[in-house]
Parts: sequence; C-alpha cells; structure tokens
Amino acid sequence: MRHFAVVGSGPGGFYTAEALNKAYGDAARIDVIDRYPVPYGLVRFGVAPDHQSLKAVSKRYDAVADSPGVDFIGNVCVGRDVSTSELLDFYDAVVLAIGAPHDRKLGIPGEDLPGVIGSAAFVGWYNGHPEFADLAPPLSGSHAAVIGNGNVALDCARILAKTRGELEGGDIVNHALDALESGSVRTITILGRRGPLQISMTPKELGELGHLEAATPVVDSADFPPPEADEALEPGQRKSVTILREFAAKGPDESKPRRIVFDFFARPVAIEGDGKAERILVERTRLDERGGAAGTGETYSVPASLIITSIGYSTPPLEDVPYDERGGKFLNQDGKISDRLYCVGWARRGPTGTIGTNRPDGYEVAARIESEMPPGSESDRPGAEGLKALLASRDVMPTDYDDWRKIEATEASRARPGSPREKFVRVEDWLKVLGRA
Ligand code: NAP
Repeated sequence: MRHFAVVGSGPGGFYTAEALNKAYGDAARIDVIDRYPVPYGLVRFGVAPDHQSLKAVSKRYDAVADSPGVDFIGNVCVGRDVSTSELLDFYDAVVLAIGAPHDRKLGIPGEDLPGVIGSAAFVGWYNGHPEFADLAPPLSGSHAAVIGNGNVALDCARILAKTRGELEGGDIVNHALDALESGSVRTITILGRRGPLQISMTPKELGELGHLEAATPVVDSADFPPPEADEALEPGQRKSVTILREFAAKGPDESKPRRIVFDFFARPVAIEGDGKAERILVERTRLDERGGAAGTGETYSVPASLIITSIGYSTPPLEDVPYDERGGKFLNQDGKISDRLYCVGWARRGPTGTIGTNRPDGYEVAARIESEMPPGSESDRPGAEGLKALLASRDVMPTDYDDWRKIEATEASRARPGSPREKFVRVEDWLKVLGRA
C-alpha cells in the first residue's frame, strides 16, 4: 500500500487526486488535505459568483472525493497544524496544491493607503472567504479603479458594475450584495500599463461587458494601431481585440448610468490622498521595441476612492520548501520539488491558466509519482493514521467529506431565492453546523 497526501482541495489538488486514484486503484490511499472544512479552493473562493457554470466542475471533484481510495481531511492547515516534513514522514509522496492566494504588490508610494485593496482580498470578500469577511471595501465614492488587464481585473470591474438583479441569482454572499447595492460607484476605470493588443482578457469574459444592465464599456479608438496589426495575434487574442474595437466603434451607451472606462498605456506611479486613497497618479506609456511599457514622462491623475490592484498572485512560502521569490511559486522542476515532494497548479506554474489547465498538470505529476513508485510497490508509512494521531496530540480536529456535505446542505437551505447557496463566511460558523463550536 502507498499513502499520498495532496495539500489543497482546489482544481490542482482534485485533478491530482483523481489521477493518482486512477493510476493506483486500491493500491494507494490518497488524502486531500485542506485548511478549511470546505473544499474546492479557487472554485469556491475565486471563480466569479455570477459565473455559476464554471463552478459546476465541483461535481467532478465530489466524485473523486467519493472514490473508495480518496479521503478529505479538512480544517488542517499545513504549515500551522502540521509541517511539510512531518507529512513526508507519514506519506510516500506529498503534493502541494495550495494555489497562489496572495496579492502581488505594485511597489509604488501610497499603495498601503486605506481604499487600496488587492484583487485576492476583494474577490475573497464577495465570494465569502473567511479571511476577508470584514474587508468593507469603500464603495461610497463615485469612482473606482482596477489596475491590471487580465480576467481577474474584468471580474472585479464587472461585479462592481452589475445591479443587484444581475448578481442575486449567483452565490455572491449577502454582505457583498447589500454593500454593492447601497454603494455609489458609477465610474470604474480599468488601467492597463500597455495597449489594447496586449490585454490578457478572454473574449467571452470581455464580451459580457457589452450586455450589462446598467453599465457600458468606454474604449478610445485612438488607442489602437491600424487593424492590420491584429493579424499577428493568435486567434483568441484577436477575438478579444475585435471586441474592444467594437466597443470603441459603437461608443458608450449614454442611457446607462455606470461606465467601465478602459485606460490603456497608463502605468500607476503613485496613489495619493489625504489619509485614504483619492486618486492614482499615472504615467502615460508607449510600447517599446520589445513590447514592454516605456514611460513617456507625461503624467495625469485618475480619481478613485476604491483602488483594486489586480496584477497577479503568489504562493505563500512554506517552511523547508525551496521557494522561487521571483516567480512567487515553489522552486520545482516539472512539478518535482525534492525527494517525494511535488507541486501542481499555480503553486507549480505561477498564477496563469484556467481551471482546465490544472488537469494535464495534475495528471503529469501523478504520472511522475507513478513512475518513481510503481503501483504494487510497498512502504510502511502510516498515512492518515499517523497524521491523525499527531493532530489529536495537538488538539486539531479534522473534518471529513460527510461534514462538508452537512455544511453544503445548510448553505443551500439558507440561500436567497434563485441562488444556489448562502455561504457561511466564518470558520466558526462552519464548525457550528458540525456541532463543534
Ligand atoms: P493575468 O492574466 O496575468 O493579468 C495580470 C495583469 O496585470 C496583466 O495585464 C499585467 O500587465 C498586469 N500587471 C502586472 N504587473 C503590473 C504592474 N506592476 N503594473 C500594472 N499592471 C501590471 O492575471 P489575472 O488577471 O490575475 O488572472 C490569472 C489567471 O486566471 C489568468 O490565466 C486568467 O485568464 C485566469 N482567469 C480566468 C478567468 C475565466 O476564465 N473566466 C477568470 C479569472 C481569471 P502586463 O501584461 O503588461 O504584464
């Protein structure tokens, strides 16, 4: 028998568990460990609440968790309750699938002023992440800004722009729904340090901005090179750029009260305000010969009392695990960190790619483990039995998938009409459902 630990129950973790389970069958036990009693990681806490179809993938993860060789061990934080080296004593292989939940910093003056919020925190707030339940983003001003030109920036801008009616059928938590409804944000500026052809927004997500009830996209056609330039783009990117060109050609719909303004060639240089964010000082850029953003020296201010930085994420370092500071992920070679220690997903590759990208990633690392420890080979490591004994000695009470099912059913039972669930946003509330708080 082999024992494997997968740390993290987001897409990277579940695809790896699925692949290991397929490869080993009943010759291995796989424990998926999560710091919370609730699974799915990014699918629960990252995917936008108005994109429910993307969350349907969790059904596949449920099937993995229900497999006889797979167990879920929730409410156990690796790095706090148990160390990676202790896990390596109990398990034949440990796969770190902890994602990249930390916001990267801009590194400009004023970034720490109240009102400046990283996208991980903002997304976590509206998705019911317990760490951000008390974030209270300032929504009483008329102007907000989102820094970055990726899909997460789009998610943040869209959630700010949507009406209650557009949001309430999803699983946005009530505290965010109420705060957004009573907020006054009317102009959301999306700042990109490069141009419209350099965005990393995908066509479906970008196209949604053209169909919002109360908000209209504002794009300046003067920002575009001649249309022939699009021919060099790969097809998906070309589609996105075509959508932006269409927004520019059509002009804003003046009947809509909210505006999502694309401000390209705009590099933030400072955030200013009297004790709180009031504006971003921006330097106009142009593309240099390598496609990077070169400053022109021209500066101007963009008003914003809420500023969301959406410029990428990093994986938190773990004691004794080699870390790539620059890449914000674990140092690894094709998913292998060191003897019997592996990583998958954003912790392996950095924060890029969709949920589906994690499938081949998890399968590849599982295949590597399989080649190093062929099914049928044995070890005398204790697996979950050893881990649980250690946890008990530290008064840590793990949860299992049946516990999650209870939480899931309770969250579904308290949902507003039309919404799939009303998430609990505090760890103690999850534990209360289980009669443990
Ligand atoms: P991303 O796609 O890498 O975008 C990061 C953006 O931040 C880029 O526009 C980048 O500009 C900009 N940026 C980086 N450093 C900056 C700085 N110092 N100043 C100004 N701008 C800066 O990352 P993401 O939006 O966080 O998304 C992460 C991954 O999740 C992506 O693969 C994304 O597609 C995926 N995702 C998918 C969906 C979906 O499918 N619906 C939804 C959300 C996220 P440069 O290009 O100039 O570096």
